[in-house]
Amino acid sequence: MPKPIVAVVGRPNVGKSTLVNRLAEAREAIVHESRGVTRDRSYHEADWNGREFVIIDTGGIESEKSDDVFAPRIRQQALAAANEADVILFVVDGRTGATEEDEEVARILRRTDKPVFLLVNKLDNPEREEAVWDFWSLGVGEPRALSALHGHGTGDLLDEVVACFPEEVDESALYPEGVCNLAIIGRPNVGKSSLVNRICGDERSIVSDVAGTTRDAVDVMVEHDGELFRIVDTAGMRKRSAVTEDVEYYSMVRGLRAIDQADLCLLVLDSSEGMTEQDQKIATMAIERGCGLVVLLNKWDLLKNQEQAREDCLMSVDRRLDFAPWAPRLRISALTGRSVDKIWDLVAQVRANRCRQVPTSEVNNLLQRLRETGHTAIEGKKRLRLMYGTQTATAPPVFALFCNHPEVADDNYRRYLENRFREAFDFEGTPIRLRFRRKD
Ligand code: GDP
Ligand code: GDP
Repeated sequence: MPKPIVAVVGRPNVGKSTLVNRLAEAREAIVHESRGVTRDRSYHEADWNGREFVIIDTGGIESEKSDDVFAPRIRQQALAAANEADVILFVVDGRTGATEEDEEVARILRRTDKPVFLLVNKLDNPEREEAVWDFWSLGVGEPRALSALHGHGTGDLLDEVVACFPEEVDESALYPEGVCNLAIIGRPNVGKSSLVNRICGDERSIVSDVAGTTRDAVDVMVEHDGELFRIVDTAGMRKRSAVTEDVEYYSMVRGLRAIDQADLCLLVLDSSEGMTEQDQKIATMAIERGCGLVVLLNKWDLLKNQEQAREDCLMSVDRRLDFAPWAPRLRISALTGRSVDKIWDLVAQVRANRCRQVPTSEVNNLLQRLRETGHTAIEGKKRLRLMYGTQTATAPPVFALFCNHPEVADDNYRRYLENRFREAFDFEGTPIRLRFRRKD
């Protein structure tokens, strides 16, 4: 099941990032930064007593203190958290008392039915704790004293936060074995829900509202050609009227969570916009996690008779995906239905490629041919010689290559070799891993 999202909100300098670092330190935080124009946001993976979750630090709003710039930003941040997160940590500064901006945030958080924790930070000395009483006036529940700097209070806080999460379900019991998990991801408004609707309209679909998962997480099960597919974490696709930068950030985090659970990732782009940096990040994550990757250039209908725009779009994908030229691209229109039926064939193909087991004899035939070309990696007096190899895993495919000097295999050589593997065996759409092992 997807990891719950904990959002940390509050005005600048109250100690949000200090707190996040504290909370995330249980495990080395994996920080995926997405820089906005005037602020940073970060995404951390954390766990507490074995329960994994995601923390979003909605970030410092940099110091243009003019109220008319500041207020709308903090409102948006709080609104996005209220709508998108599972639990909200609202941080205030115990040394300054409640400010107008705090009240602004509180007004929004009072309207959400999500759990909100009001954290009065910077109370480093226990005797200062009466300072929390001031904050009852915000009307978002009991204020609690905290020192993010010293860390006291954070353990108890995490206990309570985790207790608010939906109960964990054993997914293996819920889904039939052999189901292929698909993540359909992309930025808001690129057409993900239209696509899911179309896919499900054409196929027999079973919508399963899995009990115990995050309130609105609805998985869609689709059967195609006798095989079962589960579209994971479709909650990220529900309609939103105004998409702000903050909402877009949550949407990316949701995409990342979906990737965690997916075998294949269908990255949906809006062809009129091409591939963005955020799309590139998502693709990178998918590949790092061993997911198959298919790029769907949606809204292709909008580029009708626009030769230049089509070219620009394809170029942007080539450029941003230069590290994964093997990911297939399909031009589709969820609106008109163009090529949507081809998605299934592609998915089936990529899935087969990702699960392909290449016989050891074929791997060694390839290595033999490569030795004959004479091309290899050389460092000083060391000349890399691949002796033999074998595939040690599938989904994604992993090859162990036994050689004399594994350390000589640099990035260039790895790319060269990966390309030869891809030419020899069909690995379209799947990452593959080459592991060099010493054999004297
Ligand atoms: P953010 O803008 O809300 O993310 O705030 P930061 O985490 O960057 O913290 C702002 C400043 O407050 C930094 O100088 C921190 O060292 C300080 N700070 C954060 N938490 C505490 C705390 O619990 N006690 C004290 N004394 N200072 C803190
Ligand atoms: P999501 O936020 O990614 O789920 O995007 P939606 O499915 O809600 O689509 C956003 C908007 O794009 C809607 O107005 C759709 O009608 C429109 N849209 C989706 N797919 C296409 C397409 O292939 N072509 C065109 N022209 N519009 C599309």
